[in-house]
Amino acid sequence: MSWQHRLHSKLQQRRDQHLWRQRSVLNSPQDAHVDCNGETLVNFCSNDYLGLAASGGEDLATAARRWQFGSGASHLVCGHSRAHHALEDALAELTGYPRALLFSTGYMANIGAISALAQRGDRVIQDKLNHASLLDGAILSRADLQRFRHADYEHLADLLNKDDARGETLVVSDSLFSMDGDLADVPQLSRLCEQTGSLLMIDDAHGFGVLGENGGGVREHFGLTTQQLPVYVGTLGKALGGYGAFVAGSNDLIDYLIQFARPYIYTTALPPAVAEAMLGNLERLKDNARRQQLKARIQQFRSGAEQMHLPLMDSHSPIQPLLIGESAKAISVSNELRTRGLWVSAIRPPTVPEGSARLRVTLSAAHSDDDVKRLLDALSAIWQNDNTLPRASEQVL
Ligand SMILES: *Cc1c(COP(=O)(O)O)cnc(C)c1O
Repeated sequence: MSWQHRLHSKLQQRRDQHLWRQRSVLNSPQDAHVDCNGETLVNFCSNDYLGLAASGGEDLATAARRWQFGSGASHLVCGHSRAHHALEDALAELTGYPRALLFSTGYMANIGAISALAQRGDRVIQDKLNHASLLDGAILSRADLQRFRHADYEHLADLLNKDDARGETLVVSDSLFSMDGDLADVPQLSRLCEQTGSLLMIDDAHGFGVLGENGGGVREHFGLTTQQLPVYVGTLGKALGGYGAFVAGSNDLIDYLIQFARPYIYTTALPPAVAEAMLGNLERLKDNARRQQLKARIQQFRSGAEQMHLPLMDSHSPIQPLLIGESAKAISVSNELRTRGLWVSAIRPPTVPEGSARLRVTLSAAHSDDDVKRLLDALSAIWQNDNTLPRASEQVL
């Protein structure tokens, strides 16, 4: 089979399965209301949970006047500036860890940490619904990758107790699952790791800034010590409204990653102005009013959706998926919402398991009461017009 034939047939397959993905072009900054291809839409797709993406532009302009643009090199050569260093200190302080190490993206932080920690002969055990970057990190490490059924910690315990590893065991989970919105039982994960001498790594991409009284993330939420959650990953592109990511942990962990994490070592450092501007959003994060506002929107959406028997999932987070099942159906509801000025993405396989396509509604502190009301009204009309759409009592999976 020629290359040309392979590309063509794979693309055709994507179209036929209603899995074709395409990009929408924004003409305005990321916010609760956006201009997309000339239409004004209320945006229920972003991960900008605290509405911080539209803040910090002034900070960035000020920082750019001081630092200009490029970092010029990787951190270990000559690209590590005072701005990067100050952000690492601030992240360590906010998350309560001895140190934090800045990566350019969460994808790189995850593949960097896992591939540096785990080696051939070790095993990496992951929740089945973990983010792609965590799975890719395990593949890159050449360790044995094992997966337990989503949030099934008995299954995890069975795998841990089999003890078929020649080497060490790393257990990895998302905190808030990105396509489901549910929260891992991190205390339980921590106990299992402690009992079996395994290392626990948690990807708090969707929890950092959202969970915890002060937005410190999943560790603050559950009141765990840093020993109970020794490898913590947070990202800056979601609730923090900026760009970048970090791993937080002990002095030894951070020294180790600086020496051995290839996606840290062999890549250009973030522009220093971006790092400096992140400090402004870290300060804004401390304002609890945004988390209160977000909580109010989540409650408003869930109680409205419950009354209409919409197929909500078990989520108390800003990620509130509506489980539809068929990809074509999910797309048609998403399109229908779009004609009403509401932007909700249809998430389909392979991002989610086969037969579990969904509308991924995400809420933000930047949404008004009226924005959420508009969404609920539109969903109500769509569900009333189509009795083939799943209701809350029905099991799609
Ligand atoms: C978005 C996301 C990442 C990747 O972070 P980026 O900074 O966007 O590369 C990692 N893990 C999870 C769970 C995510 O949702």
